[in-house]
Amino acid sequence: MYLTGSFFLLASPVPLLAWMMFASGGVTDAVDSTLRWMGLWLLYWLPLGIFWSSWKRGKWSRFFLGFVISLPLYFIALDAVYPAFGGNFQPMLDGRWKIYLSATPQFYIPAFLRFLFSSRRTGVWIMRISMCLFAAGVVFPIGVAVASAYTWPKTSDRRLAIEGAHIVDASAKRILDGQTVYIQDGRIIEIGNSSLHPDWPRLNAGGYLVPGLIDVHTHLQSPVEVRPGFKFGYMLRSLISGYAPQRRAYLENGVTTIRDLGGPAVNVFRMRREIQAKKMLGPRLLAAGRLVTSPHGHPVSTIWTPSVSRSSAILASDQTAMLEGLDRNFSDGPPDVVKFVHGTIGRAHEELSADLMGAGIRWAKAHGLTSVVHAETPLEFEDAIRAGADGVEHAAYLGSVPPELAALVSEKRPFIDPTFGEYESDLILQRTPEEEREASLERSYQSVRILRQSGARIVMGTDAPMVDYGSGLHDEMAHFLRAGFEPWQILAIATKENAAYIGKSAELGQVAAGLRADLVLVEKNPLEDLETLRKPVWTMLDGQIIAHQ
Ligand SMILES: [Zn+2]
Repeated sequence: MYLTGSFFLLASPVPLLAWMMFASGGVTDAVDSTLRWMGLWLLYWLPLGIFWSSWKRGKWSRFFLGFVISLPLYFIALDAVYPAFGGNFQPMLDGRWKIYLSATPQFYIPAFLRFLFSSRRTGVWIMRISMCLFAAGVVFPIGVAVASAYTWPKTSDRRLAIEGAHIVDASAKRILDGQTVYIQDGRIIEIGNSSLHPDWPRLNAGGYLVPGLIDVHTHLQSPVEVRPGFKFGYMLRSLISGYAPQRRAYLENGVTTIRDLGGPAVNVFRMRREIQAKKMLGPRLLAAGRLVTSPHGHPVSTIWTPSVSRSSAILASDQTAMLEGLDRNFSDGPPDVVKFVHGTIGRAHEELSADLMGAGIRWAKAHGLTSVVHAETPLEFEDAIRAGADGVEHAAYLGSVPPELAALVSEKRPFIDPTFGEYESDLILQRTPEEEREASLERSYQSVRILRQSGARIVMGTDAPMVDYGSGLHDEMAHFLRAGFEPWQILAIATKENAAYIGKSAELGQVAAGLRADLVLVEKNPLEDLETLRKPVWTMLDGQIIAHQ
């Protein structure tokens, strides 16, 4: 009875787990995690059950001896099972084993109690409850996925004329009044006086019209946000709805284009296709797919689990391995950008060599793709720029800008993305005292000012989930303000400059004839008050209003 009962109770969460893993990493991850879960049963519950089965009433020595036996079983089982939950089991790190050890009675006692119950009539009830859980696990994900589906509204008009809006041209520091924006099939075809196309439907927009915002650095496929921390419900909704909460957060914050710089590749390319085909509602998605890093580099040896790394990284042990990986990523995608990780976050054991990175960047250029490098130190920035990268990410980490770097920036004029918010989150995670944190941020602001003066094209990405999806871009704008940028410059960066960085200047980043009708209407003049961008009256994507206040 114990074995059957424990089998059902442990098997009951399997459908749910398999669903979640399938949504994030496909069949491989689903099978992988189910096997690991069953491993927990085999490694922990089963041996203990066999040991207890010769237990006789009142013989408590078996209870205590069982506890001693359970300790190694517990650690073996956790090591096998942890990755299935997206974690890294590292008990020897910072003396974490003490915390794990203190949790063992919570594991052991319920298992033992259930053993006692399952030998009596209650065992039947345990089995019935387990079966209900199992059934709920099959039905529940479908229900949630249906309830949280985030899809395009039914299309209405192919044509639309937006009247009465103040049209914001941030890079010219100018507001255009008295003009009507004519939109046809998702594109702005003309901006002119109100008498044109009198038969087109009119939309009266009393407010300020800005281009849809662009986030050049995100990782869309994370079911956990770092700042609010782990929330089970959010994780569940994210995984089984194809990241609907994240997609929604972007559009509701006026962000109509995002560039994903690394995550499960096949899945992100599928989402890109579905958004493009309007089967799925979300911001325009550009994707790197698999990022290039060294076999013991960041993020594969620091924050990613083995299963995420398998689907999301090209481990460049040598040039052949790297080029093979790049070709595979190209045939799965193709990607819009190639991302190289040349930095360790101070924790990875090795870093992608400058030579390999150079060869990879040449491959990207030959395939007509933008190349982007994750770097942290001045030397890493120099390597990246010298190797010909179009853009370098994470300038907030630069404690200073040495003259050599400034000279190189003047010569090559690369795009540089500070990711201030991500840096701040990192400092908070490391429990840096507030005063020290502020001083570090001030140094970041100073470095970015110097880079800008040296001729860098400063752009803006968030690196969500290190900051919140969607609203993280507004928080980043606030950092830019503190760094000394003016609102008009900041808005131009988040639209026109970002569009140039992702290679979409001809399509995105301005309210202008010929460009896509990705627009945001806000109440106040954003050139005076950027905060107004946090609450769009509406967001329009491809000529269609998809988010309302
Ligand atoms: Zn990133």
